Amino acid sequence: HEVELHQMAVLSSTTTDGHEVLLKTNIQTSSEVEAAKACGASGIGLFRSEFLFMESLENPSEERQFEVYKQVIEAMAPKPVTIRTIDIGGDKVVSGLGIDEKNPILGWRAVRFCLSRKDIFTVQLRALLRASVYGKLQIMFPMISGVEELNAVLHLLEHVKGECRNEHIPFDPDIKVGTMIEVPSAALCADILAKKVDFFSIGTNDLIQYTIAVDRGNEKIAYLYQPFHPGVLRSIKMIVQMAHENNIPVSLCGEMASDPFCSVLLAGMGLDELSMGSQSLLQVRKILRSVSYKEAKALAEHVLDMDSYLTITTYIREWMHDRF
Ligand code: PEP
Ligand code: MG
Repeated sequence: HEVELHQMAVLSSTTTDGHEVLLKTNIQTSSEVEAAKACGASGIGLFRSEFLFMESLENPSEERQFEVYKQVIEAMAPKPVTIRTIDIGGDKVVSGLGIDEKNPILGWRAVRFCLSRKDIFTVQLRALLRASVYGKLQIMFPMISGVEELNAVLHLLEHVKGECRNEHIPFDPDIKVGTMIEVPSAALCADILAKKVDFFSIGTNDLIQYTIAVDRGNEKIAYLYQPFHPGVLRSIKMIVQMAHENNIPVSLCGEMASDPFCSVLLAGMGLDELSMGSQSLLQVRKILRSVSYKEAKALAEHVLDMDSYLTITTYIREWMHDRF
């Protein structure tokens, strides 16, 4: 079994009828790059940069951030590395930044924090731009809730690029910029946001939490946290459709991407990329290589007509059991 999975590392994630879904990995430290390369990932789909801020009491300097981003980008080159700007606040606690709130999940988090602490944010953007010449960097913004917020971060990025030009600091002029779609208002406005960015990545960990109004860390209500809730699946379907109508690719980087029970469904829903922990990648690749895109699409179409997560979960478990 192990040998068989191991062999998957050099193969593509292509269905029996030739449809490829790119499989990438999620990382939070540069030490995870080796594992990503070993499993033959098509790139890093999510580098959670906030972990650099969680490892010490002081904010990492521009130099320190540059070194870490460069190391990851260089090691993966020519494959792309998507670095997400800091997503602190919410469930990601960083002490010393003055985030202490009654309702952190709906609070001062991610780009909301960054836009009011531009001193911290611009240091990160400069470090990212400087590192972009060492391979293929893509920048991604977390927790975008609407077009004003997206415009604001894009404007700031342009401003920092201008500063770099003035200071003759080289950066990749074709750097791709994307947004996470993980807030229901962003999902509902996906057609508007798609016109502003080069790619989407769906953060289902948060999208499920906010769509169903269920705290992702609360054990008492964990039974309500259902990836197969029709409301969640309809939302994902709409985001994919809006992305494709606007000719941009769409990835999914929440835990759902690593769940073998979700793989065929997500491929069938038209996701272009799935990004997950490297320990799950070969298993997901193996599953995708053994089904056709045609049957995956039929599965997606069928369950999207169902009216409850219970029915959908049961149906998918049986569907998978019959084949694997
Ligand atoms: C998500 O919300 O699905 C996601 C990938 O981001 P995080 O889990 O870091 O919030
Ligand atoms: Mg998230």
